[in-house]
Amino acid sequence: MSRKRQKQQSGWVLVFLFIMLFLAVAYVLFNRQEQSAPVPAGEGGLEVHFIDVGQADAALVICDGHYMLIDGGNAEDSDLVYAYLERHGANHLDYMVASHAHEDHIGGLSGALNYAKVDTALCPVTEYNSKVFQNLVKYLEGQGKSLTVPEPGDRFELGSAQVEILGPVQEYDDTNDTSIVLRIDYGETSFLFTGDMETGAEGDLLDSGADVRATVLKAGHHGSDTSTGYRFLREVSPRYTVISVGEGNKYGHPSDEVLSRFRDAGTEVYRTDMQGHIIAESDGKTVTFRTEKEADTATNPTGNSTLQTYIGNASSKKFHLPDCTSAKNIQEDKQVVFYSRLQAVLEDYEPCGRCKP
Ligand SMILES: [Zn+2]
Ligand SMILES: [Zn+2]
Repeated sequence: MSRKRQKQQSGWVLVFLFIMLFLAVAYVLFNRQEQSAPVPAGEGGLEVHFIDVGQADAALVICDGHYMLIDGGNAEDSDLVYAYLERHGANHLDYMVASHAHEDHIGGLSGALNYAKVDTALCPVTEYNSKVFQNLVKYLEGQGKSLTVPEPGDRFELGSAQVEILGPVQEYDDTNDTSIVLRIDYGETSFLFTGDMETGAEGDLLDSGADVRATVLKAGHHGSDTSTGYRFLREVSPRYTVISVGEGNKYGHPSDEVLSRFRDAGTEVYRTDMQGHIIAESDGKTVTFRTEKEADTATNPTGNSTLQTYIGNASSKKFHLPDCTSAKNIQEDKQVVFYSRLQAVLEDYEPCGRCKP
């Protein structure tokens, strides 16, 4: 063999060794990545749209062209929900979840059913004595469907996202506590929906051993202090919390107490009353947020607890603390919200004798 030929041959051996080494390194790296990051196939990402329906709940979940609607706002939000689904091409819902029978969660679902065909409609009950509930059943019947009551432990897929039903784990008399609790998993990220479940049922859920940990929490019951107790919040330990709530609502939601719990938990707060529609996007590893407006507004600043609103009654010219029973009984169109006591007094309103604001 000539020297030249020998040299050429050993060159080829080197190239071959290099290729083998490269393949081995690539194989190790690829497998390691696969183990540490279970990013779902499809790569379309997961979008959760918290639709601004005022003092109510509605969220559209989109994954790989599959859609799930969780609640639909009040009956008066039907047109808004219809338009929102239309804008996002959601003419087919794989799942519709009516978290519980209250109007601010199921009222607008008829709007959704006017636009979209639904495969499976989940609800904790199949009967409830209200006009909006009967409407929901009627609209479903129009599509040849009926309500399905899910069980804790039920799982299903929405594209490459997984959904697990966690609750309710018991039967309850209080409609809020009957709320369907579900967790959506997408890669390493997760979203927890609890409807209007209150702290008692939160405790029962934790006692059942449910895995409630989540990257994003939809705050229970519009930020009412009857939900999202410290124990529950600690177990969920959400990086982000979204409050679906109406501006100047008569219930005083979100409560200062809950906002302070969120500050203690160090969770970043988004609010539909301040920011409009809120869209959370997950790539399986991280969640990023887009808001319709006020992206950088201080949604939960310290010292916010001194901000007190007052509710006036335009007929009686009396004003109340938001949690006064008289305030809660004021007709919607007679409500006036004041952001200070002085403002109420200057507008010739008299303090209520019962709550003494
Ligand atoms: Zn409710
Ligand atoms: Zn509600």
